[in-house]
Amino acid sequence: MASKNWDSNTEIEYFREYLRIPSVHPNPDYEPCVEFLKSQANDLGLPIKVYYPFDKQNPVVVLTWEGTEKELPSILLNSHMDVVPVFPENWTHPPFGADIDEEGRIFARGSQDMKCVGMQYLAAIRALKEKGDRFKRTIHISFVPDEEVGGTKGMSPFVDSEDFKLLNIGFSLDEGIASPTSEFPVFYAERTRKGVVFKISGSAGHGLLLMPNTAGEKLSYLTSKLMEFRAGQVKRLKDNPELLIGDVTTINLTSVVGGVQSNVVPPLITANFDIRLSLDINVREFEANLAKWCEEAGGDIEFEISRRDHIPPTVTDDSNPFWVAFKNATEELGLATKLQVFPGGTDSRYIRKVGIPALGFSPMNNTPVLLHDHDEFIKADTYLKGVEIYQKIIANLADV
Ligand code: ZN
Repeated sequence: MASKNWDSNTEIEYFREYLRIPSVHPNPDYEPCVEFLKSQANDLGLPIKVYYPFDKQNPVVVLTWEGTEKELPSILLNSHMDVVPVFPENWTHPPFGADIDEEGRIFARGSQDMKCVGMQYLAAIRALKEKGDRFKRTIHISFVPDEEVGGTKGMSPFVDSEDFKLLNIGFSLDEGIASPTSEFPVFYAERTRKGVVFKISGSAGHGLLLMPNTAGEKLSYLTSKLMEFRAGQVKRLKDNPELLIGDVTTINLTSVVGGVQSNVVPPLITANFDIRLSLDINVREFEANLAKWCEEAGGDIEFEISRRDHIPPTVTDDSNPFWVAFKNATEELGLATKLQVFPGGTDSRYIRKVGIPALGFSPMNNTPVLLHDHDEFIKADTYLKGVEIYQKIIANLADV
């Protein structure tokens, strides 16, 4: 049986051990992860530090492999320890069992997102150390909490801390996504998420009248404007096969609340839209349009929007030596890569926000995309191939 072979592979065993820790939302307990990482640091002969940038329940763990030229900006290899909830009844294997089947598929929550990447970093460093390699730049391997619920207790406060500044990071690697084809996506930017709430007031009264300025009419106007915009983006995506979802703006009506009974016109309707602006959209202009549509709809609409701007993408040309080092590594390995904008949010946005270049990359090609899904798995041979890929990438980056 193929699974018998994997049982004797130390790296696969470490990975499965980490997968068996149920650091799952809501309220994950990270202590077992910290203990496990301490044993990893011990095995690797690397110093480890635990920071608490938010509170004691949310540790940030950093292992460090010192470079020969310590004053140079360092390389950060980041992953998150938390995983999203599971519906065990929909799994064919226990979600925290890390079972291996006869095809070598390792089933567990976090096998793709993203305990694989964290353990692959460590496996790659173990292999490099065993070969006797040393690099110019210091390498920090960080394991953060809270990514799956926004990072406000993890990477977000960590990048603003004095401890983070002392790490003197010049470049960061973080998660990407699996690829069902042979191609490896590489993410250099993220869209900007805008939560939009319209609190629409209007004339209230009996449902048999034709009153002016009802909340329903205003909602209809706003929705039609936003859906018109949405249709334009659907068309763009359809007309240009080069474009991916991260390249366009997405708009979805996610909730509508209001009303008391069917024959009463309500004084207030609240509508929520999930909007993710592509990088070619002018944020301020878009916000001004929303405000204008509120007026055109008849006014008396309170409109709330998350006030964030686009975070500048990581530069992917010859002016960024880390990008060149990364690209050269993938080319030397013969990997087909594709630069993309990440459609969702990862901790890379916090890193980029403080001016540090960051790439999102998870070396899992020919793998179905199962993050947050039932029966999440990675094949053992894909995992081990990823360890080899990281050895080359880390070696190149740390010698920039
Ligand atoms: Zn993730």
